Amino acid sequence: MLVMLCCDKYNLKCLSRRCQICKNKVIPYNEFSNDQEIEYYEWGRDKKKVGQKEINITKKFKRTTQIRNLILKREDSLPKFFSHTANIINQYQTITELKKSLNDYETLVHMDFSENYSYRFAKEVQSLHFGGSRGQLVNALDTIHQQWGLIYRKHSSLYLKKSPNITTDSPSSQYRNKYIFYIMTQLQNVFSSLKSVTWNYQEVGHGKGTPDGVGAVVKRTADYQVKC
Ligand SMILES: [Zn+2]
Repeated sequence: MLVMLCCDKYNLKCLSRRCQICKNKVIPYNEFSNDQEIEYYEWGRDKKKVGQKEINITKKFKRTTQIRNLILKREDSLPKFFSHTANIINQYQTITELKKSLNDYETLVHMDFSENYSYRFAKEVQSLHFGGSRGQLVNALDTIHQQWGLIYRKHSSLYLKKSPNITTDSPSSQYRNKYIFYIMTQLQNVFSSLKSVTWNYQEVGHGKGTPDGVGAVVKRTADYQVKC
């Protein structure tokens, strides 16, 4: 769709619909009869009970509607989709630029959080009907959750560091809170030579790249061990 609507799907000007050449491009729809209903899938939020806890999950919903409604719905969601994509491209380009321009005194730490691990287990454990020991098991497995970071220095190949375990109810919110900004202001007390820190967030579910891959291997390995 982006290829159809933009001169260049990696160009921020096109993605923010400020490009004079492509900003008025529209999706060409074929002629259709609106009498018929159409089925489609949509991601949405749902709640699910795991043990005593109720958790929020993202789930694919099957829906039925008239074609025209679906087209209107899609057109409605386009601006949001464009800005989401523009954010991804912008963040990715910024981080690539930062990596390339590191000087001798700079370090880039690329971090990810693995938020699905304990949930995947909770689901598996539940399906096996562990009964009374279930809660305990889920808690024990929560601690498997770890943070992985990749450290980039000028001239040096990247290496891997495992950061300390931090266990919370919602792993994904660990870095998305006000405390992290407070901690940043205090870093200089520990590292007196520290001159400046910047924090670049990335869009949910995108652009995590290398740490994501590391996280996936860790998860698969842990899954395999537990199944054994
Ligand atoms: Zn354009």
